[in-house]
Amino acid sequence: MHSSADCLFCKIVAGKIPVQRLAEDDAALAFPDINPQAPVHVLVVPKLHVESLDEIKDDQWPLVGRIHALAVRVARDKGLTKSGFRTLFNTGPQAGQTVWHLHLHMLGGRSMMWPPG
Ligand code: AMP
Ligand code: ZN
Repeated sequence: MHSSADCLFCKIVAGKIPVQRLAEDDAALAFPDINPQAPVHVLVVPKLHVESLDEIKDDQWPLVGRIHALAVRVARDKGLTKSGFRTLFNTGPQAGQTVWHLHLHMLGGRSMMWPPG
């Protein structure tokens, strides 16, 4: 278990670690990834501490829609809808999850490879 008390993204949500708050509503916050993998690389997190897609509880599934909605809002704000953008979750070690607070990656501004490496 990874507790919310020492969770990096909970601290960001609470404003204890300053970030550029790109978009926000009652459920979710969008901010730039500190190590961008594309010209636009934004993370969207639920304000509630949920560790991963695999740890989500049945009544928390609406959060996945809420964070997607905020990601699309940022993609539109940044003018990415014509060129395209990618949204993804890394879940678990083999997928490359390193921060145990659910986060949706939104990447754009360059061509994307498929399948991912
Ligand atoms: P993941 O590997 O899917 O768990 O993604 C974690 C992401 O969090 C990585 O892309 C990191 O670059 C990003 N990250 C880590 N620390 C910070 C931070 N303080 N502010 C913004 N992004 C961060
Ligand atoms: Zn957290």
